[in-house]
Amino acid sequence: MKREGLILILSAPSGAGKTSLCRELFKTFPDMKESVSFTTRAPRTGEVEGEAYHFVTRETFDSMVADNAFAEWAEVHGNRYGTALITLEEAWRNGVDLVLDIDCQGARKLKEQFDGGVYVFIMPPSMAELRRRLEFRSTDAQEVIERRIVRAADEIREARWYDFIIFNDNFDEACRELAAIVTANRRKTSRMMDKVGKLFDI
Ligand code: 5GP
Repeated sequence: MKREGLILILSAPSGAGKTSLCRELFKTFPDMKESVSFTTRAPRTGEVEGEAYHFVTRETFDSMVADNAFAEWAEVHGNRYGTALITLEEAWRNGVDLVLDIDCQGARKLKEQFDGGVYVFIMPPSMAELRRRLEFRSTDAQEVIERRIVRAADEIREARWYDFIIFNDNFDEACRELAAIVTANRRKTSRMMDKVGKLFDI
């Protein structure tokens, strides 16, 4: 029996601190891999093709949709983002633990189609704190911030169907909680029997 990879799906409203939590997660579990999505948005300064994303044209993206190359895709802030089916299949088959940082629409599509993913929603401490973080870090116009806040409220409503919810009010504690979820899921019998079988020849 070969160990099946863990697929960890993380979603959060922008400003909840998902990026920093992810960074810590990869420090704690260096063998976990980040799923590299395809997107039609332009690279930001410093973003390298194939690292954070595969940057593609709208035509390429849409032809991938037509070819059923995506496990899920969604439109976020006017751009399209998708997880290639092959990324999931390869990780799963090779026993690699994969982290997907995707929005709620995409996560829901994935959950409807695939068994076995672990869905974690990162929650900001409060709406007031989310607003404070967005205003503090952003050079965006007030109306852009207002739009993000409305969208955040919609996303928070989606949290009900995730497997786990983590409040990011204390960053270290949130990191520990996320690590605990990963560890617990890594210790599921279905993921341990490969090692047990090899060690004890059963
Ligand atoms: P950004 O453009 O700031 O990198 O990402 C914007 C949003 O798109 C984030 O909420 C992120 O989680 C989401 N996103 C990134 N990749 C994917 C993907 O492959 N599928 C879906 N559904 N959302 C994604």
